[in-house]
Amino acid sequence: MDPFDLAVVGGGAAGFMTAITAAENGVKRIIILEGTSKLMEKIRISGGGRCNVTNATWIPNELVENYPRGGIKLLESFNRFAAGDVFDWFEKKGLNLKIEEDLRVFPLSNSSSDVIDCLRKSALSKKVDILTKFFVKEIFKTPNNVFNIFSHKKEKVIAKNIILSTGGHPSGHKLAQNLGHKIVKPVPSLFTFSTKESNLDECSGVSIKDIDIEIKLNNKTFQNRGDLLITHWGFSGPAVLKLSAIAAREIFSQKYKFNLIIKWSVLSYEELKEKINFLRMNKGKVNLINSRPLPKLTKRLWIFLLNKISIDKEKKWADLLANERDKIINTLISDKYIISGKGPFGEEFVTSGGVNINEVNFKSMESLICPGLFFSGEVLDVDGITGGFNFQHCWTSGWIAGMAVSKLNH
Ligand SMILES: Cc1cc2nc3c(=O)[nH]c(=O)nc-3n(C[C@H](O)[C@H](O)[C@H](O)COP(=O)(O)OP(=O)(O)OC[C@H]3O[C@@H](n4cnc5c(N)ncnc54)[C@H](O)[C@@H]3O)c2cc1C
Repeated sequence: MDPFDLAVVGGGAAGFMTAITAAENGVKRIIILEGTSKLMEKIRISGGGRCNVTNATWIPNELVENYPRGGIKLLESFNRFAAGDVFDWFEKKGLNLKIEEDLRVFPLSNSSSDVIDCLRKSALSKKVDILTKFFVKEIFKTPNNVFNIFSHKKEKVIAKNIILSTGGHPSGHKLAQNLGHKIVKPVPSLFTFSTKESNLDECSGVSIKDIDIEIKLNNKTFQNRGDLLITHWGFSGPAVLKLSAIAAREIFSQKYKFNLIIKWSVLSYEELKEKINFLRMNKGKVNLINSRPLPKLTKRLWIFLLNKISIDKEKKWADLLANERDKIINTLISDKYIISGKGPFGEEFVTSGGVNINEVNFKSMESLICPGLFFSGEVLDVDGITGGFNFQHCWTSGWIAGMAVSKLNH
């Protein structure tokens, strides 16, 4: 049996993009090997069933800022195939997309099935073979430079080139390791924070814009500004999800136990003192509960904070003691919460960690250790924050790998 020109291990976003790009650029014999019975299952469930395909952050320098791991190497990739290219790529294939206010890109139909159909049809129209229930167990490179690929049932496929697009699945990491690669230990990214802080659930559903939050771990400080959502178990929202991604490794090393600092105000101590003294002087007869020093604090949150620092919410501003004023100021500037673990679910759960990116040539996504072996998608130690950036990396790395395979001699 003639070897395939390319065997793609993993029928997800990255694998399909690789196979289609290679096929559209002249690679003849391509096979996708998918371990389960379902193709592109993560696309189906993504974005709450809508699939957040990418993010309308068109400039590569800005796009790259959304990846806590991947850094400068991704910039080179995005300079070749970025969010705008992905947008065009899908639209040219008949999938209409829309950009939402927060720049997330979705199919116009709001249905992830349309993304799946588009990818499946594109692959089939180029005669890409697809084998499901072929869980790749072992890969051997022979002395004549072809790969023998064995399934869990000992079925065999032979290919001149192989791409691992196995997502965060441990089997893909093991296959890469057996072919000589180092794996950066996978840890979760993009999660919410749980706290046992009593009464916080009274603020459940409160959302505040542009809040600075901070974590100090292992002598490092991690900060982020964004919208904060209070849930019945703790904290969520874009500010938290991004901070969880930025500090994913350090938080993991502390077993998800750490202090979260919330800065409810960007004003200085003196500025807040002036504001509160103004209330004491001019609204002396008003209860604390009825006049908040910062309009962005909702009433529920303001009551919660006063209770937290044991100040009577019914007190009149004129009766506020100097030490109570200072307590309020310190809380608004730096409010501490003991985080006891991850929240029950992530919005966009991804794995941080995977194949060490220093062992991969990002111009081609080919292994620097094992020629003929390529990587695309989440199998690599690259991950983005929520907003479509994780799929963007799959499309970019898949496209680069597909192009690189098409430039090899077949
Ligand atoms: C609930 C949820 C929602 C998400 N929403 C979004 C979103 O809206 N936007 C966004 O950008 N990102 C989102 N993500 C992240 C995104 O889904 C992933 O980053 C992306 O799917 C990774 O694609 P991939 O092709 O690298 O891997 P995967 O999609 O995981 O595909 C890998 C494939 O390889 C197969 N496989 C694994 N091992 C083997 C093996 N040994 N042999 C054969 N096959 C194998 C798997 O069965 C799988 O089909 C979401 C994630 C989750 C969990």
